[in-house]
Amino acid sequence: MKILVATEKPFAAAAVNGIREICTAAGHEVALLEKYTAKEQLLEAVADADALIVRSDKVSPEVIDAAKRLKIVVRAGAGYDNISLDACTAREIVVMNTPGQNSNAVAELAVAMMIFMSRNCFTPGTGSEIKGKTVGIQAYGNVGRLVAAKAIALGMEVMAYDPFVPAEKMKEDGVTPAESLEQMYSRCNFISLHIPATPETRGSIGYDLLSLLPAGGCLVNTARKEVINEAELEKALTDRTDIRYVTDIAADCQAELNEKFGKRVFATPKKMGAETAEANINAGLAAARQITEYFASGCTRFQVNAKK
Ligand code: NAD
Repeated sequence: MKILVATEKPFAAAAVNGIREICTAAGHEVALLEKYTAKEQLLEAVADADALIVRSDKVSPEVIDAAKRLKIVVRAGAGYDNISLDACTAREIVVMNTPGQNSNAVAELAVAMMIFMSRNCFTPGTGSEIKGKTVGIQAYGNVGRLVAAKAIALGMEVMAYDPFVPAEKMKEDGVTPAESLEQMYSRCNFISLHIPATPETRGSIGYDLLSLLPAGGCLVNTARKEVINEAELEKALTDRTDIRYVTDIAADCQAELNEKFGKRVFATPKKMGAETAEANINAGLAAARQITEYFASGCTRFQVNAKK
């Protein structure tokens, strides 16, 4: 089978080597398309691929249409909102992600962002410590749980909100389950977002929630920009001159936010939550293993799209 690794933002070299080793050992061929700049390059490369490994690359219905032999797509990472699941299901193409493989990298960045904002974005002036402060974890999944554990280790109080995780599980971890999002926002100095971008969560973080933050409250976003209602974020930052926003995924209006709110907002220049050598290798190798297992035994353990 031909396995195409298509990454506009390439994997670390060690990850590519590992993917190649796993796939060739299982008798497959690997093709590499890195740093492509036009959609047409992907459409051409995918034409004879049986399997596709991507990172944040867009796998649109047009890409699926061009991939006449495609049987499986693996998103090396957690969020799979870059893949057209319906188009894949219609063609009976299996879509998988690699859950948990880059979670530690993202969790470390979330903690770093809390410290960075507490220390005036590393500029002169008196900052504050995160010890003794409260962080609310919005979505207690792979990343959220790791942020909680690291925050507890740093002496923070931790609350969490996740309607799909039992309160008992949170309590076992030393985390206070929030009764509602509103309660969590009103009690936490930091809110760390770990919700996936879904029809339900898109644009769901807006003025009403942000207005509940206590004095100096800070929203930390290592999830997706789409979950933020940007117009309402801007209004909240305007009306509440004490609250702050730090993100790994620049808002569409980030330049305006930077201009208007200075050090109260910060966006990483390019999404870097999963940009560690370790996360690259973990997610890349997991993707390769999942594909070789699928071709060998039909294993669909990490399938995220509906079966036809
Ligand atoms: P995960 O699938 O392990 O966890 C997601 C959690 O969200 C689950 O526990 C689920 O119950 C919960 N959830 C779903 N809908 C919810 C809602 N409406 N309210 C509250 N909780 C809800 O995913 P993860 O590995 O923890 O990653 C979380 C998100 O982080 C991903 O979806 C992705 O968007 C983002 N991410 C970003 C980067 C980055 O580079 N910045 C890297 C990896 C993941």
